Amino acid sequence: MSEIHNVVIIGSGPAAHTAAIYAARANLEPVLYEGFMAGGIAAGGQLTTTTEVENFPGFPDGISGPELMDKMRAQSTRFGTKIITETIAKVDFSQRPFKLWPEYKLDKDPVLAHSIIISTGATAKTLDIPGKDTYWQRGISACAVCDGALPIFRDTPLVVIGGGDSAAEEATYLTKYGSRVYVVHRRDELRASAIMAKRLVEHPKVEMVWNSVIQEVSGDDKQLRSVTVQNVKDGSSKTLEAGGLFFAIGHKPNTDPFVGQIDLDEDGYIKTVPGTTRTNIEGVFAAGDVQDKTYRQAVTAAGSGCMAALEAERWLSEEE
Ligand code: FAD
Ligand code: NAP
Repeated sequence: MSEIHNVVIIGSGPAAHTAAIYAARANLEPVLYEGFMAGGIAAGGQLTTTTEVENFPGFPDGISGPELMDKMRAQSTRFGTKIITETIAKVDFSQRPFKLWPEYKLDKDPVLAHSIIISTGATAKTLDIPGKDTYWQRGISACAVCDGALPIFRDTPLVVIGGGDSAAEEATYLTKYGSRVYVVHRRDELRASAIMAKRLVEHPKVEMVWNSVIQEVSGDDKQLRSVTVQNVKDGSSKTLEAGGLFFAIGHKPNTDPFVGQIDLDEDGYIKTVPGTTRTNIEGVFAAGDVQDKTYRQAVTAAGSGCMAALEAERWLSEEE
């Protein structure tokens, strides 16, 4: 029979590496599956898709997202985490030890584990708009709270696309920086909760662009300068001068391999017992954005990764 690992961590963002650092220092000899372009994102997770991270404590001058993730990975391996660059494609949590199968090894013997920490994150949804690839991270972002304070977004008109709570929250947040904030929504009614919708539409710096979709973006090669929107009712187009475009059209949690194996909420996020990282399966813990649709920050993901490792360690010692 194959070796049974104490703890297998699935994922490679701040939650996974923080869990790995704690589990390794507790001598649990964790094995971490970091994924190979899992969910279309490189090992290291969402921060590998951004430039400067200015709000992670300990880096007063900021640090690039990929560099921060390289450092977290190095800290995991320093304490003995075994990192495997494969994506977990299938799991069986119906009995212990838990079974996991990496992609391309579905017909092989499974990886076995006494406990699991799922930290596969989430992926911000974006749209394929002409010009998006050219201006991604040069005016286009999928995280206003992360990027909004950057100098390129100061005192310039900004555009947010979406009509849910994220769009309302992010657009309201961006009013601190932009000279004006356009919210482009495909319908004439917001999905956002009444209180957040009211705060948004009544804000003096916000202008709603109803029944509209983004047609294209353009700029001066260095930075985004304008966003062209089309009214879906009458087909008319207009170009808004804008130095920033923020997608706020939702996230997709990376939970496909866990469907039918663990309790998920209506949006596909893993359900955890409030205030813990425990799931409905004893011995399986979830940390980071895969179980959090409220905060979605590197530091909160790292914090919950720490909690998951401590909870797994306690659970393993009680099971012995
Ligand atoms: P993620 O970072 O989502 O990483 C999980 C990773 O696990 C996946 O990306 C993939 O590589 C891997 N994986 C997925 N499925 C599998 C599988 N089946 N098997 C193996 N591996 C798998 N937050 C901040 O605090 N500050 C910022 O400045 C900031 N900037 C951001 C900029 C952008 C453009 C984006 C999109 C997000 C930003 N965030 C920022 C948010 C932050 O990146 C996330 O909150 C954080 O990365 C979540 O960490 P996580 O550990 O939950 O997982
Ligand atoms: P969401 O509720 O799914 O809203 C996504 C928005 O994007 C919708 O308005 C949707 O339009 C629009 N959209 C989706 N696909 C689109 C496309 N292809 N083109 C144009 N527009 C598109 O997502 P969310 O706002 O991220 O919220 C997710 C969950 O987190 C919700 O439960 C929300 O309440 C919660 N949340 C809460 C808070 C808070 O309370 N502070 C903050 C953020 C999020 P339609 O409306 O037409 O479908």
